[in-house]
Amino acid sequence: MTALNNALGEFDLIQRFFKRKLTGQPFIALGIGDDCALLENLPESSNWAISTDMLVEGRHFLPNADPYLLGHKCLAVNLSDLAAMGAKPIGFTLALALPHAKVEWLEPFSKGLLALADEHQCTLFGGDTTAGPLTISITVFGAVPKGQALKRSQAKVGDDIWVSHNVGDARLALGALRQEWALDTQELALVTPRMHAPTPRVALGQSLLNHAHAAVDVSDGLLGDLSHILRQSQVCAEIMIDQVPSSETLQSKSTELRRLCTLMGGDDYELCFTAPSSEAAYIHQISSQLQLKLTKIGKITPSNSTSFIRLMDQDGEPLPEKLAEQYLKSFDHFK
Ligand code: ADP
Ligand code: MG
Repeated sequence: MTALNNALGEFDLIQRFFKRKLTGQPFIALGIGDDCALLENLPESSNWAISTDMLVEGRHFLPNADPYLLGHKCLAVNLSDLAAMGAKPIGFTLALALPHAKVEWLEPFSKGLLALADEHQCTLFGGDTTAGPLTISITVFGAVPKGQALKRSQAKVGDDIWVSHNVGDARLALGALRQEWALDTQELALVTPRMHAPTPRVALGQSLLNHAHAAVDVSDGLLGDLSHILRQSQVCAEIMIDQVPSSETLQSKSTELRRLCTLMGGDDYELCFTAPSSEAAYIHQISSQLQLKLTKIGKITPSNSTSFIRLMDQDGEPLPEKLAEQYLKSFDHFK
């Protein structure tokens, strides 16, 4: 650790905000405080699922971002990656670069972070702290039964394509913040939390094991993220764009704005997954069990050279080419 230039020393900072008593965490023999953490009793018939996501001030969040929500979000985006593989969270490490160690920031940040960690029984077991421009990097560790992880490469022709909850609100909130469009106070109150405090769909991911073929979390935009599945599975897709689920707030906007936010918006952290149609009844069942809306938005089709993703309107007609292109260009590698 590089010395942080202020009253609160590195040791104090870690002790005070990040180190907590380990109480019976199954895999963590030694947590924060030594040169390494020690893990034990790793599940024999499991694969480790490990993912890192880094959030940089100015790039992923604004300098004045609420520290409690930021703590939540930086773990949420990592848990969302575990969810997209169907993995169960175990623990995480936290690498922090801080311009200064301010209690007013560290306290709410650690609270937001550890509240979400507790909710998912995901233990903070190590990290690093240094002085520098505000950067938060988390590596999350999870476990998934061997060979069962939901890989992007396993979508099959004929699969239905599903999306959890709603997409587009995070983009709607961002656009209001950037003054691309206006929202009234009530609308802002409804959509802003979707941008600042995403809910990782951890339980859904695990419920889909052995039922879904492929999954991805929607971080960059539905079409762009779906295209990762399509490319890696070497298939194409047909999407009924007006069936893509959105909030009442977004539904009250123009068709054009709704489509833009749902298809191209990022930061929703919902799951998009594919499953054979024989699993539809099971999917409806977990939807009611988890009280989480799951919506069928299209189908996986055979690979073809003309249209990677075919966008269909409410009448089942393909969108005019010009319009479709506008949505599809949201991911540059497939203009
Ligand atoms: P070292 O000098 O070996 O790198 P550090 O002083 O960086 O050790 O860290 C001391 C202990 O505190 C280690 O166990 C490390 O994992 C933990 N730690 C450091 N920073 C953080 C952090 N931001 N969050 C959680 N644990 C941390
Ligand atoms: Mg260190």
